[in-house]
Amino acid sequence: MSAADDIIAALPEGRRKPLLALFSRYHFTESQKLEAAKAEADLRQWKETPYTEIAPYSDIDRRGDGRKGDAYIIGLRKHMHSLRSCETDYSAFMPAAHPRPKYRIATIDKPAILGKCPCPVDGEKTRCCKLTTLDAVEQCAFSCSYCSVQAFYAENEIRAVGNLKEKLLSLTIPDGIWHIGTGQASDSLLLGDDYGTLSALSAFASAHPDIVIELKSKSGRDVFSTPYPPNMIFTWSLNAPTIIEKEEHLTASLGKRLESAMRARDNGSLVGFHIHPMVYFKGWDEEYPRIAEEIAKCFSPSDICMISMGTLTFTKHMLRTLRERGEESKVLEMELTPAAGKFSYPLDVKERMFGTMHRSFPEEYRKSVFFYLCMEDPSLWHPVLGRGYSSDKDFEMDMKKHYLKRIEERRKP
Ligand code: SF4
Repeated sequence: MSAADDIIAALPEGRRKPLLALFSRYHFTESQKLEAAKAEADLRQWKETPYTEIAPYSDIDRRGDGRKGDAYIIGLRKHMHSLRSCETDYSAFMPAAHPRPKYRIATIDKPAILGKCPCPVDGEKTRCCKLTTLDAVEQCAFSCSYCSVQAFYAENEIRAVGNLKEKLLSLTIPDGIWHIGTGQASDSLLLGDDYGTLSALSAFASAHPDIVIELKSKSGRDVFSTPYPPNMIFTWSLNAPTIIEKEEHLTASLGKRLESAMRARDNGSLVGFHIHPMVYFKGWDEEYPRIAEEIAKCFSPSDICMISMGTLTFTKHMLRTLRERGEESKVLEMELTPAAGKFSYPLDVKERMFGTMHRSFPEEYRKSVFFYLCMEDPSLWHPVLGRGYSSDKDFEMDMKKHYLKRIEERRKP
């Protein structure tokens, strides 16, 4: 079977049959068949009309040069480009319901629990903070359509490191300031402290006051009835309500995430926000600035350790995974511009989104909160944030300096 055959076989009958009929009507090369099949698979995920239904057949049929297949493909490319290059329209898009899956929870022993941030690309083509990752829990019960965590780990099984406290306390941590994040292989608050994860992280943070432990969540889970050491920072990934509703399935609403962050703040912890992944959709310029307003209404700058911004970025492998999954989603209805070995929005779109978001925060936040761009092209920093770094190392050091300053403020009586 060719690559096109595989994709065609996975299409529902209503899209498959017209495509096969098209291939007998006109002559297509194998690569054109693949392109037409991929486009139909994308249109299906976006819940858009099949192009086989709207192609200008009378114009194509009038051609006397025998290149009818070429003419179809040229029209298809124009159509796909027009959808990808404008703001994604979610107004009529409602994906199929996502029933809450049943997971069994297993405790596991892992020989190595620390790793490196998965984002870096050789040669510092994107600015990376060199986060150390700690996979205390693997697999996620949420279902964000742009995420590949579910495909990466065993289906229907969430795995928590069972002896985490002993493991962490026996680690030899080399000198220096360590910034360790736990939100790469799951949502950091998914299991709360049900399997001792938070108690273990808390004991580890207390034993090493110079390390910074960052948790990242999209949940509204309340785990704030016991105090945490000041170097344990709780962050929430925030998004526009439209994107939460249509792409971040089973996660907490924006309001619930902010309520959870307020509980963390009231419990004495520093909080942070990742406005990530920002999506270029119709309404982005109203909904994202409203997030800044909400944050400014609920938190003072001294409550906040950091605010990051980032957007949709896919590796080739992730694109294939998401396409094979075939889930109804519009996250791939975007210009997939090559970006340091991955694919993302063009730089001018990113500059507009990040710049608008940053300017939406009151000046006192812009002056005193540590803002950064996550995994983005270094050329975006100056136009968006008015500052930049000449190397990842400089960024990493400056970030840690800011984090420790905020943590020290918390330690003062
Ligand atoms: S919450 Fe995080 S880990 Fe879970 S599905 Fe969403 S992006 Fe992936």
